[in-house]
Amino acid sequence: MTQKFSLPRGTADILPHEVALWQDLETKSRNILSRFGYREIRTPLFEETELFARSMGQTSDIVQKQMLALKSQNDEADASNFALRPEGTAAIVRSYIQNDLDKKEAISKLFYVGPMFRGERPQKGRLRQFHQVGAEAIGPNTASPYLDAELIAMAVNLLKEAGLSAGQFHLKLNTLGSSEDKENFSKYLRERLKPHLSQLCPDCQNRFERNVFRILDCKNRECRAVVAGLKLDHSYLSEDSRKYFGDVCSALESLNIKYEVSFALVRGLDYYTHTVFEISCPALGSQDALGAGGRYSGLVSQLGGPQVDAIGFALGMERVLLALGKTEAEGQALDLWLVSMDEKALKQNFLVAKQVRDAGFSADMSYKLSSMKSQMRLAGKMKSRYVIILGEEELGKGVVTIKNMQNGEQEQVPLKDVAKIISSLRGD
Ligand code: AMP
Repeated sequence: MTQKFSLPRGTADILPHEVALWQDLETKSRNILSRFGYREIRTPLFEETELFARSMGQTSDIVQKQMLALKSQNDEADASNFALRPEGTAAIVRSYIQNDLDKKEAISKLFYVGPMFRGERPQKGRLRQFHQVGAEAIGPNTASPYLDAELIAMAVNLLKEAGLSAGQFHLKLNTLGSSEDKENFSKYLRERLKPHLSQLCPDCQNRFERNVFRILDCKNRECRAVVAGLKLDHSYLSEDSRKYFGDVCSALESLNIKYEVSFALVRGLDYYTHTVFEISCPALGSQDALGAGGRYSGLVSQLGGPQVDAIGFALGMERVLLALGKTEAEGQALDLWLVSMDEKALKQNFLVAKQVRDAGFSADMSYKLSSMKSQMRLAGKMKSRYVIILGEEELGKGVVTIKNMQNGEQEQVPLKDVAKIISSLRGD
């Protein structure tokens, strides 16, 4: 038997009836992001593995467990140094540095829409190829509570524009403070966690020394209970960081954006400092994060670029579509379906279809003859706005019957007068 192939686990085909939903989300995203002054950037789908390791941190789950490395069939040594991108920020920062954008513009407001890849154990809402829409604002001396609040508001606006109501999602906000504050935060966390070390899962016992923040994200029930009992606060913050965070909160309030301060929100990647946020949709169950982001002012210099400030976010598009609960887009209607009753009619319709398409309308037909009923059924399936019927009688009279499928009205139009057909399609 011939072998049948299936798509790789953790990936999905986006079939034509779903594509319209995707296009709608992409268009709305592009509209919102451009309204805030962000411009689209497209970077390769793979980069040097080291770029991801250096930016996200060797101890991050993504780098340790989820990188999809490329392997070349031939002996090109190079290929083994590449990995599919697990997220967007690292590549954008690489491109920002490589293209000297800091010298070309005061602030680079960039966005991207596209697939990301992580070698995860697939489950509902957790794929190995998924899609993100994300944005980054990078530039020298651009750290401002207004920019942070505006970027968060942009993510919220995008979700609303996509069709979610404010009650369907939840914005959590926190600050990690400056890199010094972050050091203090990790000491403070270790002090508080130490008495509970034996209650933590083996992974978290490991994380205690290597990356204590990760413990706050652990999904294990006992670890979560320990974290919930810690009664965290912002005592590790410097005065400046405290003020900065207060200003972000006030700016969000002035925009009427509802949020909750969550002291345990730290985000999975090393590069964040100051503002961090996460947007979740409780109705999605265990994989409820719609998106997240934060400030990462140290990353550009850490990757060999200039000392500039930066903030960004990414939303998971599959999750947004899941939260919207739509699986099928409103049908995209065809303008005209052509029904041919015999070979001569088919030959004629073939030419009418060309003229209609040349005029900018969509037209389609069957290329094999079948009963009127089955051709009309196809017209219905295609949700065609109009149908042309051409048979022996019409050909004899040199006309076509054009039927408006919405109101059932039909008229006969001279076959030579395709312009008349087109004006019907226009609704003149
Ligand atoms: P992260 O960079 O992990 O915070 O990802 C940002 C957003 O992308 C998440 O909030 C999810 O909505 C989405 N996302 C991340 N990983 C996956 C995945 N494996 N499958 C589907 N969506 C994902």
